[in-house]
Amino acid sequence: MTSASGADATAAAAVPDRRGRFGPFGGRYVPETLVAALDRLQAGVDRYLSNADFQAEFRGELATWVGRPTALTHASTLSRRWGAEVWLKREDLAHTGAHKINNAVGQTLLAKRLGAKRIIAETGAGQHGVASAAAAARLGLPCTVYMGAVDVERQAPNVGRMKLLGATVVPVTSGDATLRVAIDEALRDWVADPEGTYYSIGSAVGPHPYPYLVRELQAVIGREARAQMIERTGALPDAAFACVGGGSNAIGLFHPFLADASVHLVGVEAGGRGAGLGDNAASLTYGTPGVLQGSYTLILQDEHGQVRETHSVSAGLDYSGVGPEHAYLLRTGRVAYEAATDAEALDALVECARHEGILPAIETAHAFAGARRYAATHPGARILIGCSGRGDKDMPILQRTVLEGLA
Ligand SMILES: *Cc1c(COP(=O)(O)O)cnc(C)c1O
Repeated sequence: MTSASGADATAAAAVPDRRGRFGPFGGRYVPETLVAALDRLQAGVDRYLSNADFQAEFRGELATWVGRPTALTHASTLSRRWGAEVWLKREDLAHTGAHKINNAVGQTLLAKRLGAKRIIAETGAGQHGVASAAAAARLGLPCTVYMGAVDVERQAPNVGRMKLLGATVVPVTSGDATLRVAIDEALRDWVADPEGTYYSIGSAVGPHPYPYLVRELQAVIGREARAQMIERTGALPDAAFACVGGGSNAIGLFHPFLADASVHLVGVEAGGRGAGLGDNAASLTYGTPGVLQGSYTLILQDEHGQVRETHSVSAGLDYSGVGPEHAYLLRTGRVAYEAATDAEALDALVECARHEGILPAIETAHAFAGARRYAATHPGARILIGCSGRGDKDMPILQRTVLEGLA
């Protein structure tokens, strides 16, 4: 496991097992038609992920095209206001504006090693679509992005960005016409030509080996943050916070800290309007075990096992499942999970924008809301927040909510 620094090597070695199990969670619950494609991907991951040439090329792209390492910023005004010591890991400064690019570049490099002739991806809010389109353009592969027709409408600026970057955007009109059916459609495309096509998934979700692969590609966030905290403060943080949609930025930040027992790790989900089924997207807080898109994990379903639609002000967190490793870390107790409501997230977003000069994504603002709550009961704590992305993409919704409220 090349991404494991000495400290997290032991914890990292434990999961997933060969079958992609994180304790009882994860695995591969897929139709027969997908097995050969996943076996091929697994062989590619085994062969290339730890390979020195692959790692050198990946690190090179991260350093010279993505802009890594991203900064660690001391949030001096938030620190004073909250009575804590607050540090921000600035994934919003990464190319295309969020952590998603780390994964998109890594998977596109892997696709080339595997001889794929095209990249396909799914996207909800459009951030993974933009990152995939950019990575494919950079590395010279055509890219097709599946996107629910409802999201195509809601996220028009990102659709335009993808097209400018040369991608083909395919609106999916089946089901509720959002992220879940976009993933189904991408899987269908992949099955039709698993050798010529590479499916680049956008979060630490789906059947094995995706949750493992995405974690390994995103762990650069936590490795950098851990080293930067030690360099800047001489110590590890007391607590680290990240927002959780599918869970990729959170597992990327947390993974290198798992073996540091003194570091309290907290994932913050979308609490939406409240606790009722359909009112939030907090699968770890309110969900129950079940299978969704190839993985056994915690999902928001009714008593008949019907997956329920979700609600969040943040499109990027609006998903009824979560990566299986988070279900496992909740079960073992190593990571705590909680929810922040739409209102709490928007409030934290405004505070960060006004006092630190940083407009975070609405997804990211959920992590700020969780950290602020923690600071209130832990005066003086040294707190690290994963600043997963920038909020420019959220202007239409911020216009309708925050700005009209302020007027
Ligand atoms: C997509 C996105 C998320 C949620 O995805 P995870 O896989 O849970 O990280 C969070 N923040 C930003 C800025 C995003 O674009």
